[in-house]
Amino acid sequence: MNDEKQQQIQTLAIHADRKLNGTRAVTAPIWQTSTYGYASPEEFAAVAGEVNPSEFYTRFGNPTHAQVAAVIARLEGGEAALVTSTGMGAIFAVMMSTLKSGDHVIAQQNHYAGASTVLREWLPRYGIEVTQVDQTNVEEFAAAVRPNTKLIYVETPSNPLMKLTDLREIGRIGQKRKILTVIDGTFATPANQSPLALGIDVVIHSGTKYFGGHNDLMAGVIVGTKQFIEQVWRFSLVGGSILSPFDGWLLLRGLRTLELRVERHNSNALAVGRFLENHPKIERVYYPGLESHPQHELAKKQMRGFTGMLSVELRGGFEAAQNFCKALEIAVYAGSLGGVDTLVVHPAAMWSHELTEEQRLATGISDSLVRISVGLEGEQDLIADFAQSLEKLGD
Ligand SMILES: *Cc1c(COP(=O)(O)O)cnc(C)c1O
Repeated sequence: MNDEKQQQIQTLAIHADRKLNGTRAVTAPIWQTSTYGYASPEEFAAVAGEVNPSEFYTRFGNPTHAQVAAVIARLEGGEAALVTSTGMGAIFAVMMSTLKSGDHVIAQQNHYAGASTVLREWLPRYGIEVTQVDQTNVEEFAAAVRPNTKLIYVETPSNPLMKLTDLREIGRIGQKRKILTVIDGTFATPANQSPLALGIDVVIHSGTKYFGGHNDLMAGVIVGTKQFIEQVWRFSLVGGSILSPFDGWLLLRGLRTLELRVERHNSNALAVGRFLENHPKIERVYYPGLESHPQHELAKKQMRGFTGMLSVELRGGFEAAQNFCKALEIAVYAGSLGGVDTLVVHPAAMWSHELTEEQRLATGISDSLVRISVGLEGEQDLIADFAQSLEKLGD
């Protein structure tokens, strides 16, 4: 293969790991084993000293995982990657391997619910302070920096309000003040956004979502410098959030079509967003690809496409949102996102156990908000499904 650097993302997704496939099988087998046999104690001891060895003990590494990591590192334009058993496993491993008591973290007011819980409840228990700022205002990040700030943690677009963080500006703050910058880029994927090229240090994804893409696996990924990935690997090794080889293999299979799928997610979501925005029973649509999004200019600057995720506010409050979800025939009411099936959730109902009403309203999640993960069904069928459901709401 000639100059791999010049290759497009869809080519890398299919071939970047080719050298790591030690077999003749075009689709590499699943290395469904926990351990590996050695000819001598000396050989065994030598491998035991390696970082992330592929064939030692699967908690340390696995050939399937090495292939997945190679593809993901290339897609993000990073030096190295590590896979974990879930997205939360990736977030937790990055935080735990970076922070110690007495450190300070700057994060956003809006984050994935699990990440919010870590920031609000778990880090303070270990003596780590967290300041949560309005992600749409870069100045708030800069103003929150203290001498002990070790990490700036961002998520863009953020769940579920599709707010954006200016990645180039965050990268600048981090580089100037020597603070590690980390993004949860799950919603965008490397098909739509390249945070490392904008100056961010580390990218995390929930591989459960667009990377897997079929709602059939759980995984997490981390991309950064070789040195950083080694540091996270050392924590992950004992943290134990290890991907199963089978899920790793499914993840690799999902990645092969990432760009193709995301492109269709993008176009379906834009079409659904346009339709809903013009519907009299919809109060508001949150989608960075629409001109009405308050950060549409930033979206065009730092994203190539605008994802399959959007949220809407219905006229008619909590009840209208519940009824809207119930009447849908194609879209399934389910958590998660980024798969072939269109999924909807009503966050005010879904997070009633995780967030108090006060916390929820403070993060801008209203009673009538519905989050939609637009899948890969036909665009016209999806629009017809949303239309019939809205029709049933009455006046
Ligand atoms: C789902 C999700 C996570 C958590 O990933 P899991 O694989 O469920 O652990 C983190 N961040 C975002 C933005 C997510 O959507």
